[in-house]
This record gives sequence, structure tokens and C-alpha cells, in this order.
Amino acid sequence: MSNPSLLDKKIANDPNYKNLTEKQKVDYHNNYYLAYPSNDEERKEEADYDFKIEEMNKLFPKLPFSANSDDYDKLDDVLVKNTIAVIYVDCGCHCFGQVGTTENEFRKPKQLIKIERKNRYITYRDFYEKMNKHNKWTSCDHHFLEDLIVFDNLVIHMGFGS
Ligand SMILES: [Zn+2]
Repeated sequence: MSNPSLLDKKIANDPNYKNLTEKQKVDYHNNYYLAYPSNDEERKEEADYDFKIEEMNKLFPKLPFSANSDDYDKLDDVLVKNTIAVIYVDCGCHCFGQVGTTENEFRKPKQLIKIERKNRYITYRDFYEKMNKHNKWTSCDHHFLEDLIVFDNLVIHMGFGS
């Protein structure tokens, strides 16, 4: 048996959904999942992914890159066991061109973004909230956040894919 999907949990809490008849509820589910091709399990995974991304977009509407959907489940988990952290934006992707040219250096403004919390460790939510307010983003073709790697219990490095 697999776990109920996030969609199932979401609509279970939806007051409108509760007023539907049993037949309407079945239709609701079937119509939703029919939008996703292939078998049931893959359908559910895709629907869950879309749900998480949608929720992340609602929480962090100005995020300059696409959130990692898995992080939705751990927003309040500790990311850095420290009350202070630094997000290192290296703009080091090959999309920015050859290393060492003037133009390249111009397009690669390395940035350090500080997160500080008074009495608790830094969470994934803190990271996303900080980046949601970040307005000096230099984008490239790789805008899907894949990994957050923490160095020395202080520096947060972001890994991107396309
Ligand atoms: Zn890139």
C-alpha cells in the first residue's frame, strides 16, 4: 500500500470537497489524476510534485529560481545547526561564459547573503524566505534548485540543474 497523496490530504481539508457527494468525490479524483499520463503510481508522483511546487510558489512567490519540491516536506527542519549562516552565490555556471573575460567577471558578481536567527538554528524555511527577498539574481539556463550543501556548518551552497 502506498501513502495517500498530498492531493488526497489537501482535498480532505477542503471545506468545499466535504460537501461533495461520494460520486462527485470519485469524479474529482479521477479527473485530477487523468490529467497525468502513464500508470497510477507515476501519476501520483507527478501530481504530488505539482502540488508541492504550487505550494512553494505560494509561500515564496518571488523566489528567483525554481524550488526543490522535496524541500516542501522539510521547511521547518534544520538546514544549518547554527544561528547564523551565509548563502554563497557563486554564479559559477558555464552559462555565464568563459572564465576570466571582463564581461564574465561583470556577470559573475559573487554574493554572500547572511541569515541570522536569534535563538534557534537555521531552517530550510529561513533559506527560502531569504532567497524570496533576494532581488539581485543573475539567472542562467539552470534554474532548478537540486541540492543545498552546507560547508563548515556555516556556508550554504546551491546546486542547480535544468
Ligand atoms: Zn547555467
